Amino acid sequence: MSSTIKHRRVRVLLPLSIGDVYDYRAPASLDVEIGHFVTVPLGRREVTGVVWEEAIDSDLAEERMKDILAVLPCAKLPQQSLKFINWVSQYTMQRRGKVLRMAMSVPDALYPKAPRTGYRFTNKVPEKLTAARRRVLDIVSESGAQTATDIAAIAGVSVSVIKGLAEKGVLETVDLPAESPIEVPDGQFAEVELSPDQVSAANFLASAVGSHEFGVSLLEGVTGSGKTEVYFEAIAACLKEGRQSLVLLPEIALTAQLLARFEERFGVRPVEWHSDLGQSARRRNWRAVIEGRAGIVLGARSALFLPFAKLGLIVVDEEHESSFKQDEGVPYNARDMAVVRGKIGSFPVVLASATPSLESLMNAKMGKYEHLKLPSRYGGATLPNVNVIDLKLNSPGSQRWISEPLRVAIEETLSKKQQVMLFLNRRGYAPLTLCDSCGHRLQCPNCSAWLVEHRLMNRLQCHHCGYSTVLPKSCSECEAEESFKACGPGIERLVEEAEALFPDRKIAMMASDTISSPRAASEFVAAMESGEIEILIGTQIVAKGYHFPNLTLVGIIDADLGLSGGDLRAAERTYQLLSQVTGRAGRETNPGTVYLQSYLPEHPVIDAIVHQQGDDFFALEAEGRESAGMPPYGRLAALILSGANAESVARFAAGLARRAPMGEKITVLGPAPAPLSMIRGRHRYRFLVKCARDINIQSVLGKWLQGYKVPSDIRMQIDIDPYNF
Ligand code: ADP
Ligand code: ZN
Repeated sequence: MSSTIKHRRVRVLLPLSIGDVYDYRAPASLDVEIGHFVTVPLGRREVTGVVWEEAIDSDLAEERMKDILAVLPCAKLPQQSLKFINWVSQYTMQRRGKVLRMAMSVPDALYPKAPRTGYRFTNKVPEKLTAARRRVLDIVSESGAQTATDIAAIAGVSVSVIKGLAEKGVLETVDLPAESPIEVPDGQFAEVELSPDQVSAANFLASAVGSHEFGVSLLEGVTGSGKTEVYFEAIAACLKEGRQSLVLLPEIALTAQLLARFEERFGVRPVEWHSDLGQSARRRNWRAVIEGRAGIVLGARSALFLPFAKLGLIVVDEEHESSFKQDEGVPYNARDMAVVRGKIGSFPVVLASATPSLESLMNAKMGKYEHLKLPSRYGGATLPNVNVIDLKLNSPGSQRWISEPLRVAIEETLSKKQQVMLFLNRRGYAPLTLCDSCGHRLQCPNCSAWLVEHRLMNRLQCHHCGYSTVLPKSCSECEAEESFKACGPGIERLVEEAEALFPDRKIAMMASDTISSPRAASEFVAAMESGEIEILIGTQIVAKGYHFPNLTLVGIIDADLGLSGGDLRAAERTYQLLSQVTGRAGRETNPGTVYLQSYLPEHPVIDAIVHQQGDDFFALEAEGRESAGMPPYGRLAALILSGANAESVARFAAGLARRAPMGEKITVLGPAPAPLSMIRGRHRYRFLVKCARDINIQSVLGKWLQGYKVPSDIRMQIDIDPYNF
């Protein structure tokens, strides 16, 4: 009897949404280690995955085992990333393969660099100069030769536009030099002298970084108090340790202004990670992170899943922002997961905000987080003076939104050669369009939402699914001709009103759909800084992070917007947003003034903004959450069922409801139509599961759903700690 020699077997995790680990044989010819990126056969395909663990107990028959085909020439996925992916998968109840996919979002980064072809301008202008072509030519004539994918990404066109121009001889191909090197940041490049408050916060953080121990600090300070300078010191300390730092920001706060500040302080730009990044930058940055060459990474939430070789610090700036929460794919909150990442890596995590989330404030109060405060604005700039305009007493009139007191304040500010910002968190021309003769409202055919008129583009748009159409000539209900009327204000309409009131002033509008590229944003900032713009009208995009020294008046057109609605965090979010907007006024020597128009001047949120008393508001908010058993006092999860057929979704939901978990400390609400009951043609039902903090909500859900077969026409999504409900 010959004893069969069993070859070494390992489990390989594949980045597939249905995937988990599969056993493979590690052939003796390959030097296979845990964390290696490898290619393996899967059915008839070849898939790239990560060697996750040894498979000593594998009992698959030898003849059914397949060999690992190759070990890729790329650094290993660090042990901490493996642990983090396992943890996130368990917590969010999503497949590990799906989580791994977020860490390997740049498949071609796993291979050695292939030579690149660049495209450059031959100075031959094409006969037909479309808008898309013009953008391409602008980019190549300004920044020289670049790859087709990079040009396409920056210009927002498809690669075929570039290839087409090359065929016409407008562009020509050239060999591009090897990818630009990652420059090394210098912690001592331009040290600044800190105020006493800043010094004590910075010293605390620097020694936390040096300790290589986990701990969370909440860095709280009004806008302009110098929080950024403080966490720069923590980053400098981390550089000294030879470790990497990660700064997470909401996507829209990643501005050219902030990048420039990093450069001033550390001598080089940080390594960026966000959705605007071109393919080759993405690849270069991913490799720099896994090889430990990227000293400072500045990124949006997805940067948290980058495979850092030696991470030593995470800063979550604007930690209260709800955009750290991802609702789709793997639903997770990057702020909370950053804390977990710190624990796994034994390093400190800094949460910075002028208006911290209730969750973080509670953790600081309970002593779980260190509370670092910067009570005043840096350099003695005073906080703005906030006034409320009661719209019940100062109605601007029908279909107008700038009240008389606000108009007068704008006039005065402009006459002092200072700048004004008007804030209205609504894109487009009007949020609602209705028929004047029968009242019919224009609704999205795919979503339970109104269509929003965008007059500049001459379209009606759905802000949920992107559906767009032109304004119908006649009403489909009553057949009246040309009867549609805009109802309520969007910023385009506000611009119209401002232009009528201030015809000689330079007015500019800024919204996420009009400022589409980082370049457009920096041009805008330059125009603000040079004083070329006198009145800036914008949505929440202008509320975040910008620093305009000569902006002294902020007018909040509708402070009540966002206060209504069933969302748990509606009031908290409105408070935070209004505080941010308010903080744009008077950031330097000229004091700022804010006028806030409201029909609800006594509302706790408005009151807290006017008196700049966040503490009272948060105490009230905490009380409400505690008595309702809501986060952070209780645990919450959502179970969302969706499908094209409303009836079958409802039937499936009813079946689930019959076996819903019960218990003293568990409440299941629903099924009810989700807040947006239809999105993209899919009908949505939702359960909310609420339980006490000492209950493991994942196991409650796990037991409930165990062995339950979801029909193929229905999608079930679990969202632990849901937002936006
Ligand atoms: P925050 O992040 O709290 O909003 P910032 O760090 O952006 O505040 O600081 C506000 C302004 O004050 C910035 O222009 C910054 O450069 C300046 N500033 C803050 N601290 C200092 C300092 N110690 N020395 C010089 N300038 C500072
Ligand atoms: Zn829609």
